[in-house]
Amino acid sequence: MDIQKLVRENIRNLQPYSSARDEFKGVADIYLDANENPFESDLNRYPDPLQKELKKKIAEIKNLSKEQIFLGNGSDEAIDLLIRIFCEPGQDEILILPPTYGMYAVSASISNVNIRSIPLQSNFQPDIEKILNATEGNVKMLFLCSPNNPTGNDFEVRVLEKLIAEFPGIVVVDEAYIDFSKRQSCTTWLKKYPNLVVLQTFSKAWGLAGIRLGMAFASKEIIDLLNKIKPPYNVNGLTQKIALQSLQIEKYKREVTEILAQRTTLKNELLKFDFVQKVYPSAANFLLVKVERVDELFHFLMDNGIIVRNRSKVPLCEGCLRFSVGTPAENQQLLRHLNLFKTSSSKTQN
Ligand SMILES: *Cc1c(COP(=O)(O)O)cnc(C)c1O
Repeated sequence: MDIQKLVRENIRNLQPYSSARDEFKGVADIYLDANENPFESDLNRYPDPLQKELKKKIAEIKNLSKEQIFLGNGSDEAIDLLIRIFCEPGQDEILILPPTYGMYAVSASISNVNIRSIPLQSNFQPDIEKILNATEGNVKMLFLCSPNNPTGNDFEVRVLEKLIAEFPGIVVVDEAYIDFSKRQSCTTWLKKYPNLVVLQTFSKAWGLAGIRLGMAFASKEIIDLLNKIKPPYNVNGLTQKIALQSLQIEKYKREVTEILAQRTTLKNELLKFDFVQKVYPSAANFLLVKVERVDELFHFLMDNGIIVRNRSKVPLCEGCLRFSVGTPAENQQLLRHLNLFKTSSSKTQN
């Protein structure tokens, strides 16, 4: 596939901004090139626009090369930049598979890029045939979220590979929840499929939603395009510093293991309530739960200081709430309030 042919013409022809830190890359004694305040230290300097130290560490952890990595202000920034690289406003389209993460459609709409929707099947798997039959015209990108938010399931590996191999455009696999899944990351396919972009994030398993740091993995060709159009200092100095300090694999693994154990416990406990109709299988750190009287339960929990996500208005998620897996104490509190809900509603029924 010729990636350059998919790129918007103005982006192909763009002369990118060249910052002071782009033009001088070595180490010097005196920096008088960027109009910074010389009387302060550390944070007075512009950060590394290409986050080289951080990428080196991430490359080791992910078993990739630095040239295959883009870092952004959350993976939401990568979603926005990708749409702006490949989709001509008012002309091109993206394909999404609802119910799914809301930012693909929002980012596309902000760019005046049309959204084509092929809903997931009732088992929450993509409908391969419908997707591959909906690619005529100006469809440039396909967004696959796996494990999917809000349904929690992983797409089958053979489905992912078939879509990546046969979709005639850019395929973005959003792996925000891959850390909680048994499946291998699609990054192992990057060499084979130059149209593949894999998104991951520090916001979920790594526990760093507050620093806003997302990752995109792709061929060097696509990474170069992302670097070409990104704001020069999109990942700030504090974020780079804290990420470098926080990349502790042992702690991360411990916490993921604990969250997975809590997910199992929470699921088993939820299934004991008779107003819980279904707890969907999860490959993520949340559970999609179908309940009776969903709005009433949602407000009951909120009135008691417990905020969950109401997905009951989302197609295929009718009657569903989404519970993030919390600490053992938080999950106990949730269950205690579900018990109170059960008691209070059986009283009102009598
Ligand atoms: C939470 C989430 C993200 C993370 O976005 P960030 O901008 O990195 O915080 C991305 N995709 C999905 C599906 C998510 O649920």
